[in-house]
Amino acid sequence: MKIIMLGAPGAGKGTQAKRIAEKYSIPHISTGDIFRANIKNNTELGQKAKTYMDKGELVPDELVVDLIMDRFKQADAANGYVLDGFPRTIPQAEALDKALEANGESVDFAINVEVPDENIINRMGGRRACVGCGATYHIQFNAPKVEGICDTCGEKLILRDDDKPETVKNRLSVYHDQTQPLIDYYNKKNVLREVDGTQAMDDVFKAIVDILG
Ligand code: ADP
Ligand code: ADP
Ligand code: ZN
Repeated sequence: MKIIMLGAPGAGKGTQAKRIAEKYSIPHISTGDIFRANIKNNTELGQKAKTYMDKGELVPDELVVDLIMDRFKQADAANGYVLDGFPRTIPQAEALDKALEANGESVDFAINVEVPDENIINRMGGRRACVGCGATYHIQFNAPKVEGICDTCGEKLILRDDDKPETVKNRLSVYHDQTQPLIDYYNKKNVLREVDGTQAMDDVFKAIVDILG
């Protein structure tokens, strides 16, 4: 099964993608996580990506497309995946379609997690990310057992630089300009499904499972 998660930054794509990956035994592929891992390891790709990410801008399409095509070659991606944060532009979606078509494949579902902008600032301001394993928490909606410490690996939790309000505003406007057009793109291909992302996490997941079967 090949699934794409669509939605604004902070809509809950990553949270749901992790659960989908577990339930359907497919890898969760997050381009944001891959970039952050590269930044942490100070790779050339990480250095390039960081300049864009810090400003809340998108990393150029060529870089992202090369990275994802490489990721698809790994053995765990052979039976599908859930993509979180890719594609984010029409050219990225076209590159994905072209690569899939070459193998007679296509996207099965594009799930749009719908959350209005008013809720997003609160979602992002309360998000905390683990520096060790990348797990995501929310100080209000999904608090760790011990404040500031990851339940899973015990490392420190931080507020991502790009989750500060000024950058979030820019990311939202980038989302509306460059990513939202994908909703129409996948609707035309009849694979778009919408879920109400303002519901509690468990209810969002139930709605998704109803769609995926
Ligand atoms: P969120 O989960 O909050 O939406 P991500 O972790 O997906 O954020 O992405 C963080 C940043 O990484 C983005 O703001 C952007 O700079 C970069 N990025 C991630 N995926 C892509 C992509 N597909 N195209 C371009 N930039 C990307
Ligand atoms: P995205 O990957 O779309 O950027 P995340 O999955 O990281 O979004 O979620 C953003 C923040 O909102 C996180 O702190 C997460 O714990 C929290 N969150 C996710 N889904 C919900 C929900 N349904 N209700 C309340 N908070 C949520
Ligand atoms: Zn952790």
